[in-house]
Amino acid sequence: MPSSSEKNAAPPLPEPLRVPVADSHTHLDMQSGTVEEGLAKAASVGVTTVVQVGCDVRGSQWAAETAAAHESVHATVALHPNEAPRIVHGDPDGWSRQGARQPGGAGALDEALAEIDRLAALPQVKGVGETGLDYFRTGPEGKEAQEGSFRAHIEIAKRHGKALVIHDRDAHADVLRVLKEEGAPERTVFHCYSGDAEMAEICARAGYFMSFAGNVTFKNAQNLRDAVAVAPLELLLVETDAPFLTPAPYRGRPNAPYLIPVTVRALAAVRGIDEDALASALAANTARAFGY
Ligand SMILES: [Zn+2]
Ligand SMILES: [Zn+2]
Repeated sequence: MPSSSEKNAAPPLPEPLRVPVADSHTHLDMQSGTVEEGLAKAASVGVTTVVQVGCDVRGSQWAAETAAAHESVHATVALHPNEAPRIVHGDPDGWSRQGARQPGGAGALDEALAEIDRLAALPQVKGVGETGLDYFRTGPEGKEAQEGSFRAHIEIAKRHGKALVIHDRDAHADVLRVLKEEGAPERTVFHCYSGDAEMAEICARAGYFMSFAGNVTFKNAQNLRDAVAVAPLELLLVETDAPFLTPAPYRGRPNAPYLIPVTVRALAAVRGIDEDALASALAANTARAFGY
């Protein structure tokens, strides 16, 4: 039995990838250690690029600043689907690091969206997201604000010619419907893809990228592995969503971009292809998705 301190400790460095890849979705601002340490550790195992994702106004500003300061970091900016209703209605149990907030009404949401729009124009900002729908954490009272915010982000992404990064939790049908109604941007990424093989075929037909996180290694995630198996190779991406979703066998311990090789190897095994060939495809796909 590992001691409890081992159970909470950072997992060991995996064997380096021979072909470098990008972590297509991470939250460096929620990880321990400095940005420089996190990037160096990732680069030491072949994860040479990261996409830093903003979830609120302050986090999006930080993502843009961090990408401006580091060649290997690209930024995306947005109000998370659970953030939009909080801005409008307030939320005493807020999970964001900003904590509880007074309700600000629709005007506050417009103001926050205006800042996201301003940031989206910056050259180091390669995407708008994570946005989308989350019916797991947001209840019916927040649905209207959430969907309105999602539509606004789609419009911002299209106007600036940036990638759209989708967060879809328990909301597959409505996410696909809103994308269809608004017209998806040219480059759309389903982050932490959570659909099944049937939805992967729908995404493939629409040309949406599918980014797989560490949960693809979980025992109960056969639906995700089925999706990996049918997704076109040229639409596959890999991500950590760190500090969340640490891949097996390190589930529950802190995640960070340096653990990408664990998930890359799991994806290669599901597809039955060579690790280097998969890594080359993932690297090219991420660059194409985010236009860098
Ligand atoms: Zn997400
Ligand atoms: Zn995320």
